[in-house]
Amino acid sequence: MGETLFEKIIDREIPADIVYEDELVLAFRDINPQAPVHVLVIPKKPIPRIGEAADEDQSLLGHLLLKARAVAAELNLSEGGFRLVINNGRDGGESVPHLHCHVLGGRALNWPPG
Ligand code: 5GP
Repeated sequence: MGETLFEKIIDREIPADIVYEDELVLAFRDINPQAPVHVLVIPKKPIPRIGEAADEDQSLLGHLLLKARAVAAELNLSEGGFRLVINNGRDGGESVPHLHCHVLGGRALNWPPG
């Protein structure tokens, strides 16, 4: 299987507005933002979706969530609040087969989602 879109962003083959990077994860602004702040936090390991994560990914997934929290704080969402979303599969609305956690904030978000 070829590289996913997000692997190309990790490898700098496709440009992105990167807001955080370490050895395990990358965070960049979504190209089609659904809120004033809309960032995607992805593992550098190409896990297709949360439904295919393995037990061995436990610490990586914890790291991903904590970095999503850190990105939200860095982008001034702590006080007003924010939402983390992981879409999985067709009915979940997943469109890129590389695990990503959406960080959304900067406005009041509706619930339930559409
Ligand atoms: P999903 O629908 O799979 O949960 O989320 C995929 C997200 O990736 C969408 O919100 C979409 O706007 C975003 N996206 C798709 N292609 C690109 C791209 O080339 N660059 C960036 N920064 N975001 C992208």
